[in-house]
Amino acid sequence: MSGTYLGEKSVDAARATAPGIPDGAETLFIGGQWVAPQAGKTNAVHCPADGSFVGLVAEAGEVDTIAAIQAAKAAHDAGLWSSVPEPERGDLLLAVARRVRERKNEFARAESLDTGKRLVESEIDMDDVAACFTYFGKLAGQQAGRVVDAGRPDVVSRIVHEPIGVCGLITPWNYPLLQSAWKVAPALAAGNTIILKPAELTPHTAILLMQVLDEVGLPPGVANLVLGKGSVVGAPLASHPDVDMISFTGGLTTGKTIAVQAADTVKKVALELGGKNPNVIFADADFDAAVDNALNAAFVHSGQVCSAGARLIVEESIAQPFVNELVRRAQNIRLGGPFDASVDAGPLISADHRDKVTAYVEAGLAEGARLRCGGRWGTGELADGYYYLPTVLDNVHSGMSVLTEEAFGPVVTVETFTTEDEAITLANDTIYGLAGAVWSQDAGRSQRVAARLRHGTIWINDFHPYLPQAEWGGMKQSGTGRELGPTGMAEYQEIKHVYQNLRPAVTGWFPR
Ligand code: NAD
Repeated sequence: MSGTYLGEKSVDAARATAPGIPDGAETLFIGGQWVAPQAGKTNAVHCPADGSFVGLVAEAGEVDTIAAIQAAKAAHDAGLWSSVPEPERGDLLLAVARRVRERKNEFARAESLDTGKRLVESEIDMDDVAACFTYFGKLAGQQAGRVVDAGRPDVVSRIVHEPIGVCGLITPWNYPLLQSAWKVAPALAAGNTIILKPAELTPHTAILLMQVLDEVGLPPGVANLVLGKGSVVGAPLASHPDVDMISFTGGLTTGKTIAVQAADTVKKVALELGGKNPNVIFADADFDAAVDNALNAAFVHSGQVCSAGARLIVEESIAQPFVNELVRRAQNIRLGGPFDASVDAGPLISADHRDKVTAYVEAGLAEGARLRCGGRWGTGELADGYYYLPTVLDNVHSGMSVLTEEAFGPVVTVETFTTEDEAITLANDTIYGLAGAVWSQDAGRSQRVAARLRHGTIWINDFHPYLPQAEWGGMKQSGTGRELGPTGMAEYQEIKHVYQNLRPAVTGWFPR
């Protein structure tokens, strides 16, 4: 396979327009140096839109991760970054935001080449990356500790925030640079040293980010990059005693493995895992807006979004026209490669992932779900990429695997309800708790339902927006901890109580 589908808009041609994308084994960034893995291995990255070759990157081994951990520990122990005043750390992050904006086109192209995501979506992601660095750059220095009233004039008691130390940051392939930014920006703002481990399928924008961190003057060893398989280069980050915190975004099974690996050293663990997110539509909702957003909820980035609205829960009285319209519009979604401005959505990330989505839909159909549209691979000119048609399944009921497991593809199931209580019960009937939406023009009902949903983000009459200044994260098995917002920075800080006795004296507690 090589660029056959996209013709003159081919990935090969686009690759030539992104000359800044690095190529080769020297793509690990350890201790301020670009180095090759000690075993000299490389990994070839291909674009899922048509299989075109994108670039060669390092394929690190455990020994390289250990070298990165040592570099991060040495930088932390030397205070290279933690001793920099917080506002100066913030300035550096603001400079990163500026560079990302300046190089937005190149960064977005690299992201689209790796993920197959539409260029316009990658451009939005790069804006969001810059906004994240801007937010945490401005937040640095604003979270002063506090003086505690000890109730005694001869005691000074202070709460101070300190960096945690060495942070291992492991990120997924769906929003590669954005998910990395959500971790890198607050971790650096808080004064930590980091080792970033992006997903092996989508490494290029992480390399570009390291270039920028180096250019803007981050001291050597403060930010390190390892590339390679999770089980090989990610696992040591979770288990190594010199890593003080592991922050992971990815699948539930991997998250559980990481939590177990981290337990032995009792390091801090932050997990942003999957979701099985309900989109609840009441009959009084704005019909057109709700249908339109239900499409966005389920099919943006071909459903490869942790907060995808994969469970449509619609009031019985409008279910038939609502689903008919959803199906009609889902069938109009044009699939294609990232550099074709006429398409609406791109491919799945890999052949393996498409097989997983396929098996998930087939299991649903075997359990009695009804296929309303989609349910098959892209054919014809789409055959070179990993395309899966937008899929709507109805006739589903509690207990079916299509309702319980995350497909992470363009698949939405339809359930119906007749009462508010029933809607809430259905929406909470999942082990996950990442995000969900309520559609109604009754403000009281929207708020009532929002209050009872056990999900970390609730949208009312909207789907998917997030704000860098608002916390993001999951309840139940969607994870622990929060990213973004002030809490997203606090996650990367230790809190220390300093108690000073200004008049030391003998206690008399024990006999002399
Ligand atoms: P994944 O769990 O397969 O991989 C994520 C990262 O973990 C990759 O970098 C991978 O190399 C690494 N990894 C794999 N095994 C490891 C191990 N044993 N030790 C250490 N690291 C390991 O997930 P994915 O397929 O890349 O991403 C999709 C998942 O991410 C979905 O479940 C999605 O819901 C979730 N996600 C969640 C959020 C959120 O904010 N909650 C955001 C984006 C994606």
